Amino acid sequence: MISKYIIFKYSVSLTFVFTLLFSFKSLTKGKNTKKVPSDIVIEQCHNSLEWYNDHPGYRGEFTRVLDYCKKNAKDISPEGFKVNPILSDFGSFSGVNTRPRDTVHQGIDIIGSHNQPIIAIKDGIVLEKTIEDCWGATLVVDHGNALDGKKIIAVYGHVGDFMVNENDIVKRGDIIAKLPQKANFLCMARVRHLHLQIGQEYCKKEEKNNWGCKYFIKDFYNSLNPHAYWSNGPNNVTCFEKDKKYKEGTITYPFICKKNN
Ligand SMILES: [Zn+2]
Repeated sequence: MISKYIIFKYSVSLTFVFTLLFSFKSLTKGKNTKKVPSDIVIEQCHNSLEWYNDHPGYRGEFTRVLDYCKKNAKDISPEGFKVNPILSDFGSFSGVNTRPRDTVHQGIDIIGSHNQPIIAIKDGIVLEKTIEDCWGATLVVDHGNALDGKKIIAVYGHVGDFMVNENDIVKRGDIIAKLPQKANFLCMARVRHLHLQIGQEYCKKEEKNNWGCKYFIKDFYNSLNPHAYWSNGPNNVTCFEKDKKYKEGTITYPFICKKNN
């Protein structure tokens, strides 16, 4: 009598557990199939991978990286706009090319097409334009203070042509550089992208290559999260629009946003 009761009890609870498991599985499955890359993600993933056009021997890698890009690039377009997607965000441990990073990402990597203009995220003064061995063309701009009093020393890395000179005063929205024709420098990882990083203390040229000053800023491994400083508030990527007023101490997107029709 007792054993029959136990068997009955167990079969009831087992059925319950299986039903739960099954419904959970179908729920998560539904969620996965929903994620389709947006038009801008597909377009810019293709554009950013032009390196592979000149290197037909890397077909397999191209397919893998393209697939990775379509799955992982974030379409952060604000309402009413289309903007270049972020492939590796601040705090990410994955690079733009599927590989894990050695250290946590200190900037945001925004993919794009060749010669696409890069615009100043805030008013400022150009501290340095240089061609770094691994990074390629890089621009450092002092954008003054953020709304919390912290400095905004922006590093615009992996660019192509410079549109400004050192000591130039720039206004928010000014074209300061362009994305490169070819992503040939090692740190570009064969994926055309802007690396935007915000530091507190600029490494003067004479301090370069000393301990603590390998690249452009002293807090290279302890930089600020750009998403904290958008004009429309934290995590609200904000587009630059001509003649619009922006809150003091805030930043706008480093690419020109396309308006949705
Ligand atoms: Zn980066």
